Amino acid sequence: MHNFQARDHFADGAQYIAGRLTKGTSGRTHAVVDPATAEEVYSYELAGRDDVDAAVAAAAEAFPGWAGATPGERSDAMHRFAGVLADRAEEFARAESVQCGKPIKLSREFDVPGTVDNTAFFAGAARHLQGQSAGEYTGDHTSYVRREPIGVVGSIAPWNYPLQMAAWKVLPAIAAGNTIVLKPAELTPFTSLLFAQAATEAGIPDGVVNIVTGAGKDAGEHLVGHPDVAMTSFTGSTGVGKRVAEIATATVKRLHLELGGKAPFVVFDDADLDAAVHGAVAGSLINSGQDCTAATRAYVQRPLYDAFVEGVADLMRSVRLGDPFDPNTDMGPLISHAHRDRVAGFVDRARSYARVVTGGEALAHPGAFYRPTLVVDAAQDSEIVQSEIFGPVLVVLPFDSDDEGIRLANDTPYGLAASAWSRDVYRAGRATREIKAGCVWVNDHIPILSEMPHGGYKASGYGKDMSVYSFEEYTQVKHVMFDNTAVVRKDWHRTIFGDR
Ligand code: NAD
Repeated sequence: MHNFQARDHFADGAQYIAGRLTKGTSGRTHAVVDPATAEEVYSYELAGRDDVDAAVAAAAEAFPGWAGATPGERSDAMHRFAGVLADRAEEFARAESVQCGKPIKLSREFDVPGTVDNTAFFAGAARHLQGQSAGEYTGDHTSYVRREPIGVVGSIAPWNYPLQMAAWKVLPAIAAGNTIVLKPAELTPFTSLLFAQAATEAGIPDGVVNIVTGAGKDAGEHLVGHPDVAMTSFTGSTGVGKRVAEIATATVKRLHLELGGKAPFVVFDDADLDAAVHGAVAGSLINSGQDCTAATRAYVQRPLYDAFVEGVADLMRSVRLGDPFDPNTDMGPLISHAHRDRVAGFVDRARSYARVVTGGEALAHPGAFYRPTLVVDAAQDSEIVQSEIFGPVLVVLPFDSDDEGIRLANDTPYGLAASAWSRDVYRAGRATREIKAGCVWVNDHIPILSEMPHGGYKASGYGKDMSVYSFEEYTQVKHVMFDNTAVVRKDWHRTIFGDR
């Protein structure tokens, strides 16, 4: 029993504007369905353009006060925010699991503590915004750099890790003195709303964090194109990211894009096979494979290939699917029945050119469950190797030379994350240098840290979430230059006045 009563929590609506819940005014409603049971758990009025306008106005009104607060004041409020989140951890975990179908152990051990840690990190980092040192670079002037917030940030997030995505968008933005309007995915509004409410409870002023829960084409596009929004930060698929980029570019906005992935998992022949097998199963099935950094393509050097395929298949078969609220459940359903059918479509099409070793079917269950799936004998240029599936599907391919393994790892449009498995420091080191991805793990796959940047290369986007690198997205630097001479005719005036 999930024990999270969304109808009671969000009886006043699923929009959070200027510190209070309101109903959306688009005239359209959306039902949130628990994907583990197919039961409706909440229905709400989607945000329309007017709601986006109201949220942006609230954020714009809050901006001067929040931007003008000292770093210490912002930091104090964010430390309290981390405390509120920690106190309410169990409620957040339940809300996250009911809307996503995520195993409760994943919500409790990963999503929620990760978010508390992120909040504490940015509370500290708020006091460490840095520019380059000041100095006299001409001899006649003193220069320094001011690092300033940008204004109202408009952010759009996906449904796979709704709480962490809200945190990754909101925290660096507000730590740097911006205010924000966040649009979560329609399917998963609960924890973004709870997160914004917790900010208010911690004393963060009304209007600093606003949530509009609406459809992508309607509320989403209006937010991206809004003239009073200074920056867009988008996490989602590469296809929608391109559309967002078009709209943002037309209004000359700063843009941060965290897009899709198709992470390679490269196993060299000196690797610890057992560790690689466990890493591949955990790394491909986390969050039912609905993870932009999930291991999706394992390239295994020929001597280990057969044993790796056999080991992964055995371990995948032992993964327990079931009720996300059972602490023994390893893998929950996919986010929706429509998405499960999409994932099944990739696997079904692959049957004509590849072999499904295990899985490849939905459970006979009302929920949107799909078995852990292992595919082999696919060509490198086939759809199942090249396209983001976003489900519990791992493809394994063999390689011979190290050169070939690294070349194949780089051979998709994506570049978000990758891993290399080897006991040889030189081989592993080469892989970390030559694989084109925003993160390369060695002998592991998945862990993330508040202190370290997360972001893509190539079609996986640009810009960084988490870490102090995210401040490069959410601040702008201003050069301030003082004349130190007090003379009327500056030396450089010769270029205008000559010797006169
Ligand atoms: P999606 O692109 O369909 O939707 C993401 C968000 O964009 C949602 O809030 C949606 O409502 C909104 N949206 C849809 N159309 C829009 C439009 N025309 N204009 C503005 N907003 C619009 O993605 P999804 O299915 O929710 O999430 C899965 C995708 O997210 C995968 O591709 C995954 O790799 C990616 N993802 C990337 C990262 C990362 O850090 N790079 C993290 C998580 C998820």
